[in-house]
Amino acid sequence: MEKIQALIIGSGPAGYTAAIYLARANMQPVIYEGIQPGGQLTTTTLIENYPGFAHGIDANELMSAMRQQAENLGTQIRTGSVTKVDLSQRPFRVEIEGSTTIEAESLIIATGATAKYLGLPSETKFRGLGVSACATCDGFFYRKRDVAVVGGGDTACEEATYLASLCRQVYMIVRKPFLRASQAMQQRVFDTPNIEVLFEHNTAEVLGDDSGVTGVRVRKTDGTERTLDVAGLFLAIGHHPVTELFDGQLKLDEEGYIVTEPGTSKTSVEGVFAAGDVKDPHYRQAIAAAGSGCIAALDCERWLRR
Ligand code: NDP
Repeated sequence: MEKIQALIIGSGPAGYTAAIYLARANMQPVIYEGIQPGGQLTTTTLIENYPGFAHGIDANELMSAMRQQAENLGTQIRTGSVTKVDLSQRPFRVEIEGSTTIEAESLIIATGATAKYLGLPSETKFRGLGVSACATCDGFFYRKRDVAVVGGGDTACEEATYLASLCRQVYMIVRKPFLRASQAMQQRVFDTPNIEVLFEHNTAEVLGDDSGVTGVRVRKTDGTERTLDVAGLFLAIGHHPVTELFDGQLKLDEEGYIVTEPGTSKTSVEGVFAAGDVKDPHYRQAIAAAGSGCIAALDCERWLRR
């Protein structure tokens, strides 16, 4: 059976950064890229807030540069998904694509998180064409235009206030008669003149044409409908960490995020480290994930040299 010294699962900024560090430390890392090589970032376009690129960089270009850098330094990058892990014994047993089993001395989990979507066909159709799940990533493209945000939690309030600083008008589509967000965040929303909160409303359909989103049809709980003429629809109804593989084997919080020892990447199982959005319900930024990939690689290297 093949035995790998340092196995990284996931190929977003956290996974590639971990690989870059481990390869430079001569730890012969291997990455399994999963079903979405490059991770969540590849669903967006221009990135302007990743330091080092004065004029921004295309997200796919950034991810392929990270991938190439990891490979140039000696990382083995493999296509395919991990379908099962057994962390009860070391070396850990890892099954790939439901068939091959390999052994891993150490493991870095960088499987990320996926934004929740409503599941409407029209929403899927306009994903990346006006439908987004990240205001920080895409809000800039809607400067001086009208947009809508779905959700009533802290993320939705944060995204709405951020968008209000760029856009002309922001609608919040909230299914309940109240916001779930903290009082402070609610107050910020209510104090922002260009945010209108539509309580007890649901998104019925995303409208658009070849140029992208042109509006959203919303339905109130009393059945009345209204069309919002918006150019962008931002989903802020939560994220799912991708941790199903580790359920019952690693300590997860109530939302399913991997719990790490504060200030480190160490999980509840020795030799298993976590990096990026899979352990971060709050920040969810590429640069934060890359930084946490670096931390995981350093923790992993020290552990392997113990
Ligand atoms: P939350 O789960 O707190 O809120 C999700 C929101 O989306 C709720 O208003 C929920 O409505 C709504 N929603 C969920 N599903 C649907 C749906 N299918 N249709 C319409 N609306 C829907 O997620 P957040 O991402 O806002 O926050 C996650 C965690 O992160 C929270 O603990 C939050 O406090 C924290 N956070 C903290 C921040 C901070 O402190 N600065 C910033 C951002 C997040 P309903 O209420 O009806 O269920």
